[in-house]
Amino acid sequence: MSDTLTLATDLISRATVTPVDAGCQQMLAERLERSGFKATHLRYEDVNNLWITHGEGSPRFIYVGHTDVVPAGPVNQWISDPFKPEIREGFLYGRGAADMKGSIASMVTAMERFVASYPDHAGTIGLLLTSDEEGPSINGTRKVIEYLVEQNMKIDWCLVGEPSSKKTLGDVIKNGRRGSLGAKLTVFGIQGHVAYPHLARNPIHLFAPALAELSSMRWDDGNEFYPPTSFQISNLNAGTGADNVIPGHLDVMFNFRFSTEVTQAELEQKVEEILARHQLEYDIEWKLSGQPFVTTKGELLNAVIHAVKETIGFEPEVSTGGGTSDGRFIAPTGAQIVELGPVNTTIHKLNECVKADDLDTLSSTYENILQRLFC
Ligand SMILES: [Zn+2]
Repeated sequence: MSDTLTLATDLISRATVTPVDAGCQQMLAERLERSGFKATHLRYEDVNNLWITHGEGSPRFIYVGHTDVVPAGPVNQWISDPFKPEIREGFLYGRGAADMKGSIASMVTAMERFVASYPDHAGTIGLLLTSDEEGPSINGTRKVIEYLVEQNMKIDWCLVGEPSSKKTLGDVIKNGRRGSLGAKLTVFGIQGHVAYPHLARNPIHLFAPALAELSSMRWDDGNEFYPPTSFQISNLNAGTGADNVIPGHLDVMFNFRFSTEVTQAELEQKVEEILARHQLEYDIEWKLSGQPFVTTKGELLNAVIHAVKETIGFEPEVSTGGGTSDGRFIAPTGAQIVELGPVNTTIHKLNECVKADDLDTLSSTYENILQRLFC
């Protein structure tokens, strides 16, 4: 087994459902310290974070990742134990293989080879890891960035190892993410007997026309970097379970994935206008998970595109699709951010896997990016 694959299997064999780290960060820190890296362990409440670097000053290039994983789900439906990594027919199976312990292993071996070849490289290279990316994301990267800002430590280039690839390794890289804005809405009515509707107010009937309007609305047309903003209802609940009771309230959860063509404030305003126009009595709680961000040009995007071309052999598609990532916490510092990682078809699913050979290729690509930026 290659060095990268061996390291990936070690990481997968540690069950690290958020926020558990199970010694992953300590093991990686000790390993990189042997190559001359300096580690800072930052623990906030139950979350472990690691900031580990080699070299001094700027430019600063940082790989970003997370050691936590999502729960395995029903373990008996996995072909092999999710926390006992296994290679079958060229694929490495286990929870976190693709999201994102395979990337972490590739980053670590890429950095080891790079500092062995260029011990006196300019600037700083390093790794930022958290054990809370898949969970509440409060004591993870967000807090580490606050700490780095206090220390006047500016990240210039940030490569996030989230599984960006669609069908084959490197076919898609991400240069940004859409914003994510969620809401919990309660529409109030008056509970009553279905046979006496004049004594009640049915919140389902009241909300239905507003729902039709919200779900057919075109919020914007997107732009060169973003698809149009999308609105999706994830939960809709009302009713007591009895067939003769008009419910007293209706609960809705919905989410916007938004482009840079609208702002959070505009979306909130448009929604509340519609609710008011339909004369609804309601309560709404908004929650912003991340503003949209994009890295349109610059040394980093260039280096990643050319590294993929050289090590994998084709030009990647550059996209802002998919969910949010911890890049959202780093973007406000002005860092250039690009995401490149394994194929994402099995992430968060049963029998998560990654093509075993892809990890070595990914490690070479990560190393190639460093060479392009620092040599
Ligand atoms: Zn991930």
